[in-house]
Amino acid sequence: MHRRIIVPGALGAAVLLLAIPASAASHSPGAPGIGDPYYPAYGNGGYDVSHYDLRLKYQPATDRLEGTATILARTTQDLSRFNLDFLLDAGEVRVNGAKASFATSGEHELEITPKSPLRKGTPVTVVVRYSGVPSSKQAYGFTSWHRTPDGGVAANEPEAAWWWFPSNDHPLDKATYDVSVQVPDGTQAISNGTLQSAGSRLGWTRWNWRSDKPQATYLATLAVGRFDLTTGTTESGVPVVNAYSKDLGAHDGAARASVERTGEVADWLTGYFGPYPYNALGGYVPNTDTGYALETQTRPFYSPRQFANGSNVSVVVHELAHQWYGDLVSVRGWKDIWVNEGFARYAQWLWSEHEGEGTAQELADYTYASHPADDPFWTVKPGDPGPENQFDIAVYDRGALALQALRNEIGDEAFFAVLKGWPDKYAHGNASVADFRRYAEEVSGRPLAALFDTWLFQPSKPAAAAARAASLAKASDAPAQPKSWKKIAATNGVHEH
Ligand SMILES: [Zn+2]
Repeated sequence: MHRRIIVPGALGAAVLLLAIPASAASHSPGAPGIGDPYYPAYGNGGYDVSHYDLRLKYQPATDRLEGTATILARTTQDLSRFNLDFLLDAGEVRVNGAKASFATSGEHELEITPKSPLRKGTPVTVVVRYSGVPSSKQAYGFTSWHRTPDGGVAANEPEAAWWWFPSNDHPLDKATYDVSVQVPDGTQAISNGTLQSAGSRLGWTRWNWRSDKPQATYLATLAVGRFDLTTGTTESGVPVVNAYSKDLGAHDGAARASVERTGEVADWLTGYFGPYPYNALGGYVPNTDTGYALETQTRPFYSPRQFANGSNVSVVVHELAHQWYGDLVSVRGWKDIWVNEGFARYAQWLWSEHEGEGTAQELADYTYASHPADDPFWTVKPGDPGPENQFDIAVYDRGALALQALRNEIGDEAFFAVLKGWPDKYAHGNASVADFRRYAEEVSGRPLAALFDTWLFQPSKPAAAAARAASLAKASDAPAQPKSWKKIAATNGVHEH
C-alpha cells in the first residue's frame, strides 16, 4: 500500500517540477474590480460566472440568513487568487472541492486563495458557506437590504447582491440562477424567474425559483415576508406570478390595480420592443417604506409608496420596459445608464399617449419648457452623468427628450425600427451609449454624432429646434400640462429606478 503511493507520487513530483516555474511566472491575482470607471471596486477580474446556485435559510424574526452559494465559473486568466463581492460572513470556501483560504478586504471584497493556482480557461466550482444578519451590514455607509416588519428585501441599483450572496457584481458578468430559500411555514420567499416548487417540511417551507436566462447580479432579488401570490398568463402565454405583502394596508387596492396589469403592459410593450424575452413575469410589492421601484429581472420590485395616490400603471410600464432596456440588454459600464433610463421613461410617454393622457411630443414639450436654461437639470449629461448623478431625474427626463429629438430627426419609421431592433441585436449581452448611436446611424442611414452630443453630452439646455419642430408643425392644440408620472413623483418623493 505504502509503496504503491510512492510511484504516482514520484510521477506527480515530475509533473510539479515542470509546472511550478510556469505557474510562478504566470499566475497572478484577479483584479478586485471589473474595470468600471464609475465603480472601480465593483465586479472582479479573472473569471466569468455562468451559474449561481443559492441554497439559503432565512429567519424573519432575527433577520438571519445562512446557506451555501455554489458558483460555476470559468477562469479568464491564470489565477493565484480571486475576489467575490460580499458582505456577509463566509465560514468555509471550497474551490474545485478543496478548502481554500479566504480573507476580507476593502468595503465588500472576499479574497479567495485556492489550494492550487487555477489555469486560464478552465471551469471552476466555488462553494461558499455563509451566514449573517444582512441588516447589520453596511458598505460605503449604506445598505441595500430593506428590513420589513415580516422579513427583508434585497433590491437596489447598482448594488444589492452583497447583502445576500457572493458574486461578481457587475452587469458585464451575467449568469443563470437557482434560488432556493427556506423560510418558516406561513412565510413566502420571492425571487426572480419561475417558481419551480414550494414545499413544507419540519415547519419550514422551501421556495425554489429559477432564472434560466442570463441575469445581471443587480437584477437578482430576494424578498421574504407574508405575501399573497396571484397567478395568470399573458396573451402570448408567459406565466405571471405577482406577490403582494399581506400588510399593504391602504395601498393594497392601488398596488393590485397596477401590478395586476403586468401581463397587459408586457404584451403592449412587445409592439415596440419585440417579443418578451423571458419565460416568467410578474411583480412584487413588499411592506417596505423605501420610495423606489426596480426592474429586478422578470419580477420588478415596487415600493408601496408608488401607489400612494392610487393606481400607477406608469411605474409598471417603466420597470417592464427595463426587461428589454436594462435586463435583456444591460449597460456595458454604469456610465451607460441612459440606455436603461432614457428608454424606460420614453416607454412611459408612449403609454401616456396610449392612455390619451398626452402624447410623447406633448410630454417632451412640457418637460423641455419646465426647465429654464439656468436650471441645474441641464448641467447633468445623461450620456455620462457621473456616479453621483447616475439616477438624477435628468438622466430620465432629459434622456427621454433625447429620444424624442432622435425620433424627430430620423422619422417614426426608422425610430421605431431602432427601438425594436436594439434589444434583439444585443440580447442577453451588454451595450453602450456609443453602441446605440452607431446602431441608430446604421438603421436610419443618418449621421447622428451632433444630435447625440447636443442632447446627451452637453451640460446646457439644447436649442429647441429638434424637439420643437415637429410639435410646432402640428401645434394647433397647445401642449396641456399632462398629469404625468413626474408630478406624481414630485408630490410623493418616490421615483423609479
Ligand atoms: Zn428605470
